[in-house]
Amino acid sequence: MPDSDLIARLDALLPQTQCRQCGYAACRPYAEAMAAGDAGPNQCPPGGNDGARALSALLGAPYAPVDPHFGASKPPAVTVIDEARCIGCTLCIKACPVDAIVGASKFMHTVIAATCTGCELCLPPCPVDCIVMSDVQFSDETGRRAAALQAKQRYEARQRRLARNRAVAEKNAGLKAAAARKQSAVQRAVARARARIRQKQTPG
Ligand code: SF4
Ligand code: SF4
Ligand code: SF4
Repeated sequence: MPDSDLIARLDALLPQTQCRQCGYAACRPYAEAMAAGDAGPNQCPPGGNDGARALSALLGAPYAPVDPHFGASKPPAVTVIDEARCIGCTLCIKACPVDAIVGASKFMHTVIAATCTGCELCLPPCPVDCIVMSDVQFSDETGRRAAALQAKQRYEARQRRLARNRAVAEKNAGLKAAAARKQSAVQRAVARARARIRQKQTPG
């Protein structure tokens, strides 16, 4: 039985960058893995050694610095798009876990800096390498936590939107399949009726 209180407390200590460097799909799944004893508290590079220390204390586990195998701890950053080079392919929008990029197909895209977590997930898909990182500074710990909370809420909102889209797509696919089955049944019935008529009209 998952300890939901422990998961929530672990998740609250994570930076909510949603970068997947820990090896999990997002911060929350990593918190769940730690609570289940499946992951150690030193797998989150954005949280740095302070984060690892806080997670270790909450888990009652021995402290170890962030394992460099999971990536290097870097200063906070946001991405900036060179809008003159952007070709409007929308691939970065699909990759962004917190919906921090705005733009439409074939039009230039822009990052809303106040919502970007600096996860870097938009960099690899960009076919023209027009996205770069730019360092940012939080005013203080309160500012850092506020940014993390905002990122968590935006990530969760995106997950809900994607789930709604999937449900609509599944429903539409189901309706389409049912309509195809119905049409096929009608065609078979018509073919049977025609065959019966032909049989009756055949002499002898
Ligand atoms: S910030 Fe990145 S590495 Fe850290 S827990 Fe979240 S997804 Fe994992
Ligand atoms: S804009 Fe790029 S770096 Fe910023 S949150 Fe989205 S995917 Fe991550
Ligand atoms: S992936 Fe690159 S080229 Fe495509 S829309 Fe984003 S910034 Fe523009």
